[in-house]
Amino acid sequence: MPEAADLERRTTELLQRLIRFNTVNPPGQEEEAQEHLKSLLEGAGFECELLAAVTGRPNLVARLRGRSDGPTLCYLGHVDTVLADPGDWSVDPWSGELRDGMVWGRGAVDMKGQVAAEVAAVTALAEEGWRPASGELKVVVTADEEAGATQGAKWLCEEHPDKVRADLVVNEGGGDSFEFEGRRLYAVEVAEKGVFRFTLTTSGRAGHASIPKIADNALAKLAPIVQAFSDGRPELEHSPEPDALMAELGVDHDDLDAALAEVQRRDPRVAILLEPTLGVTFAPTMIRASEKINVIPARAELKVDCRVPPGLGEEHARRRIEEVVGNDGYDVRFTESVVGNRSPIESPLMDLIDEFVRAEDADAAVVPVMLPGFTDSRWFREAFPDCVAYGFCPRREIDMFQTAALMHSADERVPVADLGLAARFFAELAPRVLG
Ligand SMILES: [Zn+2]
Repeated sequence: MPEAADLERRTTELLQRLIRFNTVNPPGQEEEAQEHLKSLLEGAGFECELLAAVTGRPNLVARLRGRSDGPTLCYLGHVDTVLADPGDWSVDPWSGELRDGMVWGRGAVDMKGQVAAEVAAVTALAEEGWRPASGELKVVVTADEEAGATQGAKWLCEEHPDKVRADLVVNEGGGDSFEFEGRRLYAVEVAEKGVFRFTLTTSGRAGHASIPKIADNALAKLAPIVQAFSDGRPELEHSPEPDALMAELGVDHDDLDAALAEVQRRDPRVAILLEPTLGVTFAPTMIRASEKINVIPARAELKVDCRVPPGLGEEHARRRIEEVVGNDGYDVRFTESVVGNRSPIESPLMDLIDEFVRAEDADAAVVPVMLPGFTDSRWFREAFPDCVAYGFCPRREIDMFQTAALMHSADERVPVADLGLAARFFAELAPRVLG
């Protein structure tokens, strides 16, 4: 097993290097970062391939084959990031500066830190001569995760399924820890909500704005609808993941309204993260009506970002819309429909994650979580229905609430100690699964 201090140093240096490649998506420009990772993995004995949907934006697939057939374990990551406005930051977002025991920069948490831990762990293992006894270790680093994955994981899974096929996938979306009533819990992401964005339209009759009563103002009809979407909430819904989480928290969850209120009472921070996993959510974000200030609009449009529990589709979303805003006076057209999906909560991979957590942090436990957003795991679960895909990159020095505030925000940073913890996890897991 590679030495802990060495793993931490390698991960830290690699993360600093990765942050210095500006991979803000759009446009992404992931090629240089991918070439760098490829050279490290090839140097350690991996077979590597760059697969690109468009020039300059390759995905990296690295494989270390075992001596006999067996399961394929895939460490998944993405190397693109969201944008950063240097004016809001205390350091240059592409400096990878080491300050106060942390690496600072865009992507430190989401998710170059995890990619660095994955690659540092597997290259250290392979350089020591480790090879899977059976099965195969893959490292897949995608482009374009932050802008829809049509040139990244979605494309890879559709166009090159044989190259990225896996039985077990470890990706982003989990690993953050939080304290609940004195006990530390590590989240393992096992499910992700779907995205059902829609445009809601109201209609009226156009007219000159100087005689308001001559027209029928479509914009005014949107006002109560906007209000209802932001204040109202459709009925809460059971799903296996939040049910299991609440059981682990010791909260009786037969009645979801009472359960949410109970979590709210015990720790409001946990309630904020739990609530969106208990059903369909609506966030009205954009509105459009007349093109001219002196014309009363005959049509007005509201765009709503709607998230739906895994496995459920448009019909379910529509039912919840009607529950909140009634069923007449508007039209709804879905503009994006991506059904969320899940992996089983119980699996040998979950047991291995649990063992690692208990060995590192004696009184801690793992809890399954549903992500309100979605990650590249979604495309793998869809393409390979039997695969178990979890989000897990352990962090202890900073907790889930701190991480949630740093992702996609200014001064994104990750403690060096957590980079070491994550690298130990990835270095220990591969030999446990593959021998
Ligand atoms: Zn990410």
